[in-house]
Amino acid sequence: SDASNSNASSTCSSPTATPFPPDILNDVQKRRTFAIISHPDAGKTTLTEKLLLFGGAIQLAGTVKSRKSARHATSDWMEVEKQRGISVTSSVMQFEYKNHTINLLDTPGHEDFSEDTYRVLTAVDAAIMVIDAAKGVEAQTIKLLNVCRMRNTPIITFINKLDREVREPFELLEEIENVLSIECAPVTWPIGMGKTFRGVYHLHDDSLLRFMPGEERRTTAEKIDGIDNPLLDRDFPLEVTRLREDVDLIRSASNPFSLDDFLAGRQTPVFFGSGINNFGVQEILQALLDWAPPPQARDAGSRMVQPAEAPFTGFVFKIQANMDPKHRDRIAFFRVCSGRYTASMKVRHVRAEREMKLSNALTFMANERVLMEDAVAGDIIGIYNHGQLHIGDTLTEGETLAFKGIPYFSPELFRMARLRDPIKNKQLQKGLRELGEEGAIQVFENLATGALLLGAVGVLQFEVVAQRLQTEYKVDAIFEPADIHTARWLTFPDEATRRNFEREQQHRMATDVDGNLVYLASTRYNLDVTREKWAQVGFHDSREHG
Ligand code: GDP
Repeated sequence: SDASNSNASSTCSSPTATPFPPDILNDVQKRRTFAIISHPDAGKTTLTEKLLLFGGAIQLAGTVKSRKSARHATSDWMEVEKQRGISVTSSVMQFEYKNHTINLLDTPGHEDFSEDTYRVLTAVDAAIMVIDAAKGVEAQTIKLLNVCRMRNTPIITFINKLDREVREPFELLEEIENVLSIECAPVTWPIGMGKTFRGVYHLHDDSLLRFMPGEERRTTAEKIDGIDNPLLDRDFPLEVTRLREDVDLIRSASNPFSLDDFLAGRQTPVFFGSGINNFGVQEILQALLDWAPPPQARDAGSRMVQPAEAPFTGFVFKIQANMDPKHRDRIAFFRVCSGRYTASMKVRHVRAEREMKLSNALTFMANERVLMEDAVAGDIIGIYNHGQLHIGDTLTEGETLAFKGIPYFSPELFRMARLRDPIKNKQLQKGLRELGEEGAIQVFENLATGALLLGAVGVLQFEVVAQRLQTEYKVDAIFEPADIHTARWLTFPDEATRRNFEREQQHRMATDVDGNLVYLASTRYNLDVTREKWAQVGFHDSREHG
C-alpha cells in the first residue's frame, strides 16, 4: 500500500519559496487536529475516552465513569463546569501520542445539536466518522458528512459495536458508499460478530488482531501474522475458512487505499472494532498519525496562508458565553493558522481595526484548563473577551486578512421573540443584535415590518439565548413559533431585478446581521413557486461569514 506519511511534505514550501522557521515547521508537522462525527449513540463519547486513554490524558478509571454519568443529568461534573461558568473541558482536548500533538475538537451532537456543530468542522483538518454497525448510516451522519464535504475534509471511518449482533460488513460498506457517496477502502476486516466476534484481520499488515473484551486495557491486541498461518487453523477452526474467503474477496473486490483519494475526501479508510472494549481504537489513532494531514494552507481572502510561516494568524470558529451572570466575558475558540502564539502577544483584530493583547489565552488539556504558553497552526486557544470577538473574526500580526469558510446555514427552526415587559424593547433589540453578531443565533429583520426573527439549527439555541437575554441583558423574553419553513440567502443578477423582487416580495424578505438579503419561505411549496417564478434570482441555503 502507499500508506506512508508522504503527505507531510505538502505543508513544506517549494525549494524556491521563503524558508519557514524550522521550529514552527517542525511543530506544525506534528499537529493533528480532528473531530469525531457520528449520529447520537453510535459511540462517539466512548471512542473519545479510549483515544484519550492512549494519549495518557486521563486516568484509567475515574474520568471515564464521571463523564458517562454526566451525560444526561446535572451531575457533580456538570456542576463543576457550571461553577466555572463554561464547559471547555469537553470542547477541545489536546493530548500527546507518539511524538505528536493531537487536538480533538468535540462536536456537540446530541440534544444540543446546533450551528456550533457545523462550525467546529471548519476548524479541523480531518474527521473520524463513527458508524453503529447495527444501524449503519444514520441521519446526523449524513448531515455532518455533507459539512465535511464542503472543505473536502479527509474522513477515517470506524465501524463500531462488532461485539454485538450487527449487520454484514459488506452490506455496511455498500451503504456508506451509496448513501454518503464516498469510496470505502477497508483496512481491517471483522471476523465474526457478537458472541463470536474474534477480532479483525489487518489487510495492510497482513495480520490478525485477536479480540479480547475488557474496557480499561491499554495494551496492544495479540497479533497472528499471515493469512496462511497454521495458528489461525488451531485457534479459529470454525472461522478460518470463512476468514480466508472474505479476505480473498475483499482484497480483490474492494478499493485499495489511496492516500491521495483520502486526502481529497473521495475515499475513506474503514476500520472495524468495538469502542467500549477498546478494540480497534489504536489502529485509528495510528491512521490519524500516518495519513491524516497536518495543518494545511488556508484561504485568507487576499492570499493563502501557509501554516509554518512566521506571522501569527487565525480565526474564531466558536464563542462560548460565560453563564456566570456576574461576568459578561466569553471565550472565543480560536484556531491558529500560522505562526506561533506567545503569551501577552499583541495582535490586530482585523474586522474591528484595532489592537488586542492576548494576555490570557487558554489551552485545553483534557480535564483541566491551563494557561496557554505556546501554540502553532492546528492548535486551538481560548481567548477571554467581552463580546469584541465574533465568529469568523480573523486576528493577525498586522496584515489585513480574512479567513474564509465559516458557514452560516439556513436555520431549520424559527421563533419570534416577545417581551413580557414591553418597556424593555430597546434592550431586547440590542441583546438580539449582539447575540446574532456573536453567532449564538441567527437574527433576521423583516424588511417590511422591522420585526426581529430568530433562526436556529437546534432547539437548544433558543433556550441558551433566552437565558442569556435574561442574565446579560435583563430581558425576559418568550419565544413563539413563527410561520416560516425555511430561509434562503438571495443573490440578484442586477439592481433592477432586486428592486422588482423586493417590490413583490418585501413582506417575505429580511436582512441578516450583516445586511444580506434573505427570503423567508412559509412552506416548501411557497419556496418552489417563488423560485420558479424568479428563475434568475439565486436562492442559497448557506453563506459564509463576513
Ligand atoms: P455517543 O452518543 O455517540 O457519544 O455514544 P456513546 O459513546 O455514549 O455510546 C452509546 C451507547 O453505546 C453507550 O451505552 C455505550 O456504552 C454503547 N457502546 C459504545 N461503544 C460500544 C461497543 O463497542 N459495543 C457495545 N456493545 N456498546 C457500545
